[in-house]
Amino acid sequence: MTDRVIAIAEGRHTKPLPKVGSSGAPGTIRDALGRAVRDLRISVTDRCNFRCIYCMPKEVFGPDYEFLARSQLLSFEDITRLARVFGTHGVAKIRLTGGEPLLRKDLERLVAMLGEIPGMDLTLTTNGSLLTKKAAVLKAAGLKRITVSLDSLDDGVFRAMNDVEFPVSKVLEGIDAAARAGLGPVKINMVVKRGVNEDSILPMARHFRGSGHIVRFIEFMDVGATNGWRMDAVMPSAEVIRRIDAELPLEPLDPNYRGEVAERWRYRDGSGEIGVISSVTRAFCRECTRVRLSTDGLLYTCLFATQGYDLRALMRTGASDADIAAAIGAIWSARADRYSEIRTAETASLRKVEMSYIGG
Ligand code: SAM
Repeated sequence: MTDRVIAIAEGRHTKPLPKVGSSGAPGTIRDALGRAVRDLRISVTDRCNFRCIYCMPKEVFGPDYEFLARSQLLSFEDITRLARVFGTHGVAKIRLTGGEPLLRKDLERLVAMLGEIPGMDLTLTTNGSLLTKKAAVLKAAGLKRITVSLDSLDDGVFRAMNDVEFPVSKVLEGIDAAARAGLGPVKINMVVKRGVNEDSILPMARHFRGSGHIVRFIEFMDVGATNGWRMDAVMPSAEVIRRIDAELPLEPLDPNYRGEVAERWRYRDGSGEIGVISSVTRAFCRECTRVRLSTDGLLYTCLFATQGYDLRALMRTGASDADIAAAIGAIWSARADRYSEIRTAETASLRKVEMSYIGG
């Protein structure tokens, strides 16, 4: 683990915007590896009320940690404007994330604004802590579906992982509230860290089987530079599947669409499906159609990036929508990253942008 983390405002490493050519014009664009842009993840806050040990460890994100100032955040109007422009390039799905997105004041107003973009699928990832209160308002504002993170059903294990003594029961209440509000099928993300919550895999599968919710087991990733990532703490998805299949027989399912991150499996007895996300052991860069917008308006073409493109600066210099579309087109056309495919011990220790800032 690093001794000190550079506060976000300090570590705002940007790349110059590429020159705009004919490839920057609106329309479905392809990057240097032939990938289209389909999925925009927007981080609406870098703050979180959890201190998950693999994401925002307390030793780094302590009381003195300097989060972004309000003036640095993209406004809802900025976000909606950018989302519309991304739509002209083929983006059809937006995921709001963070930090903890439900901490952003009046988030439902942003949901309603984004909901007005024709044909845009709108979803959100949350730790569930505020969901009981917010689920119905978010649904009414136009949110379609929701993903809730939950790393264990064992209260002791969960509290040790979120590191703020947050109980499992409150997240389960949030999941129920989301389902009641019509935000289902709820997806439940469980990050598996070997030696920490591996014994929670089967109880999680058993609990949600037959509920209509879809648990997705995620390999512990080397995102950011502060989570002390080590390969031996990664449990390969193949092992997760083996463990579940031994008790609850599984069979593979086809992806819902090309570029889907999770590999899908279903219980042979018809009692539902699960997913695994294998960013470490089965990299899916070749199919990656995702782009990420940080809380302060930097555009990242990879979760494991070290630098982003400053769209906030571009907007604040009075660029027109056509200028922004051209810049996004040029950035995407030049994209050639495939970090997970070329991951080594060396790349894992690069000063990559934190997941709490860029969004999960
Ligand atoms: N606060 C929200 C939440 O808890 O879902 C949204 C942001 S969080 C960064 C998004 C997702 O990233 C969560 O499911 C979280 O478990 C996952 N995540 C964070 N750090 C990770 C890591 N090192 N490896 C794998 N997944 C990680």
